[in-house]
Amino acid sequence: MEGYRVFVEGENWFEITGRSFSVKVSEKPDIVAIANHQGFVEDCKTGRKKNSDLYQVLIYLLLVPISIQRCRGLDLQGRLVYPDGVMEIQADQVDEGFKEQFRGAIATLSNSTPARKVPSYQECRYCDISAQYCSERVDAKPDQDLEKHDLF
Ligand code: SF4
Repeated sequence: MEGYRVFVEGENWFEITGRSFSVKVSEKPDIVAIANHQGFVEDCKTGRKKNSDLYQVLIYLLLVPISIQRCRGLDLQGRLVYPDGVMEIQADQVDEGFKEQFRGAIATLSNSTPARKVPSYQECRYCDISAQYCSERVDAKPDQDLEKHDLF
């Protein structure tokens, strides 16, 4: 990015301790690029697009301005860089609805009562928690009792 000061990975690490909830949030955006009053926060993905990618960048846009001093007061924009293209994420997507969702997730994560688990093959196959630590983990693809069809 010509004319931009570019900061990568470890340079972008931050950690925030909650004031109302006993929890720390720690993140490390892949790239932060700054020029004048404009800043880009980017994450580079090699796999397929997931909703969680978008939420990750929205969390960056929410927390970077209060946790990385050089980003304070910047017009920030997010970017998800995939092998087949770039998704732009605007700062105004961090609206009250998203902040409420974020607070709700923090409240759930910091609750001493574990959240109810709703395991499924579709969820667990993207989860990094091994069966050693999650007894509910589902690793087997469910059998489908399909009827014969000629729909397609
Ligand atoms: S492995 Fe456990 S924690 Fe991860 S998605 Fe499955 S049930 Fe949830």
